[in-house]
Amino acid sequence: MKLARALELGGNDYIHRPIDRNELVARIRTQIRRKRYDDGLRNSVQRTIQLAVSDPLTGLHNRRFLETHMARAVAAAEDTGVGFALLMADIDHFKRINDNWGHDVGDRVLKEFATRLSQCLRSSDLACRFGGEEFAILMIEADASTAGAIAERIRQCVCEKPFVVEGEAIMVTVSEGLAVFEPGRDDNLSLLKRADAALYAAKRGGRNRVEVQVAA
Ligand code: GH3
Ligand code: MG
Ligand code: MG
Repeated sequence: MKLARALELGGNDYIHRPIDRNELVARIRTQIRRKRYDDGLRNSVQRTIQLAVSDPLTGLHNRRFLETHMARAVAAAEDTGVGFALLMADIDHFKRINDNWGHDVGDRVLKEFATRLSQCLRSSDLACRFGGEEFAILMIEADASTAGAIAERIRQCVCEKPFVVEGEAIMVTVSEGLAVFEPGRDDNLSLLKRADAALYAAKRGGRNRVEVQVAA
């Protein structure tokens, strides 16, 4: 009876008294082997999940992760009435960096860009590599002025000091488009479209700048 209860409570094994030394050792070995196997399995599942939502080059989240979280942010904003901001950031004339210094140097620039980007963000902001040399940042509960200040900080942090890669000092600038989610008037597509339009305006306006697109 006691034994059944012990197993129900989560016991993995049991041994009768008087204890046989050899049996005890064999049972402990089996338990340790099983624990190692379980831990390995758990780690491998975690690694797989991690790989599915992160960008291998920069270590930032990937686009899929952004899409999942944006859907959650939209739902939360509709629920609470508090909006959030989406910032799209695209490195200026990145193709020239690849053309002048090669693709590997281009990759190192992307990594350094991701590092500088992360340094400018609050812990609640979510930075993702949207694709190529384009990044998206989701700023939870940020209004236009907070998000605008962060965007400007990112712009400065990128252009103020050259990126030093393999002894080369490379000047990099970034253009940014900002849009703030308006509960009741927006959905994730309209928000993305506005951030994109703002980014396009920043490029057209001469690059190395932040543009904001407000809801119509
Ligand atoms: P713009 O200022 O208008 O954004 O110009 P751009 O040159 O940055 O934009 P364009 O879209 O013409 O070129 C982007 C380049 O980024 C082209 C592509 O080869 C390069 N690229 C995309 N992904 C990677 C990557 O993972 N590594 C490297 N090194 N280059 C990449
Ligand atoms: Mg670009
Ligand atoms: Mg681009």
